[in-house]
Amino acid sequence: MSVTPKILVHGGAGAMRSMGGEREAAYRAGLVEAARLGREALRAGDALEAVLVAVRHMEACGAFNAGVGSCLDEDGRFSLDAALMRGSDRAAGAVGACAATVHPTDVARALLEEGRHVLLVGEGAERRARALGLPALGAPPEEKLETYRRLLADASKRAPEDLSTVGRPDDEQAEDSQDTVGAVAVDARGRVAAAVSTGGLWLKLRGRVGDSAIPGAGLYACDALGGASSTTGIGERMIRALTAKLACDLIAAGADAQAAAQGAVDDLAQRFGPDSGGIVVVDRLGRLGAAFNTQGMGRALASLGDEAVPVAVWPEEPFPLD
Ligand code: ASP
Repeated sequence: MSVTPKILVHGGAGAMRSMGGEREAAYRAGLVEAARLGREALRAGDALEAVLVAVRHMEACGAFNAGVGSCLDEDGRFSLDAALMRGSDRAAGAVGACAATVHPTDVARALLEEGRHVLLVGEGAERRARALGLPALGAPPEEKLETYRRLLADASKRAPEDLSTVGRPDDEQAEDSQDTVGAVAVDARGRVAAAVSTGGLWLKLRGRVGDSAIPGAGLYACDALGGASSTTGIGERMIRALTAKLACDLIAAGADAQAAAQGAVDDLAQRFGPDSGGIVVVDRLGRLGAAFNTQGMGRALASLGDEAVPVAVWPEEPFPLD
């Protein structure tokens, strides 16, 4: 089987309240560069490497809720989730609630290669990040702490029944919690891979792990089912709906990538209502899919042999998927 290698990245689905001006320019530039770097990796012929380099770029660039740009938990601390999955053998690596490094996906990569454990959380993930010599994340910058203090003050004024929405992408006060990143890719041999990385949700409880660390929920890749997917939105929903696996199951049942993406988002909307999330999908034939029911979702794609790197944020923007 010969397929045109392709990568499709996303920068999170949500209300996109803080978009516009320099902020939006940096966000778009980060997506384009991530897709471009992924395409370079595809030249060497490896879908897993492509999604890894794309997500690593978005972790390092600061324009996303991942790596250095991550949001903070209820204690004002970083707590990152990330995962990688390879379609050829369903190998997966994931980390949850890790604050030790800018690149939790590198820890996920190490776990995937070792094959002993799929998921490490908290101190264990941090110990592994240090043992791998990965760049430290450090303490949150003052700008993040200011947002944290503002959200915390707001939360203290709310009725207990409103607290569960604090910091969520559908919360009026949310800032940039929608900017989780992810990628899916297919290489020339029709092998697929998926990746995801996030700081999670503002003011999440200490120790909370979301969908981004859970294969089947935040990502899935399986050559045998015929595709890979990476999701974004309020992670508790994706965990309950197994959204990423659902998209791959829809491909196995005959859907193309776009129909699978739309089917997965429709399932979320049916269960949880509007503003429930987004997904990117690739199938083994090299077809791409992107769907979301939020105000926006950043996305960019790159194909081998085509210099263009289309990027879009809003639903009405042109974004040719073939
Ligand atoms: N899914 C992520 C989480 O719940 C957040 C997001 O995608 O915006 O941690």
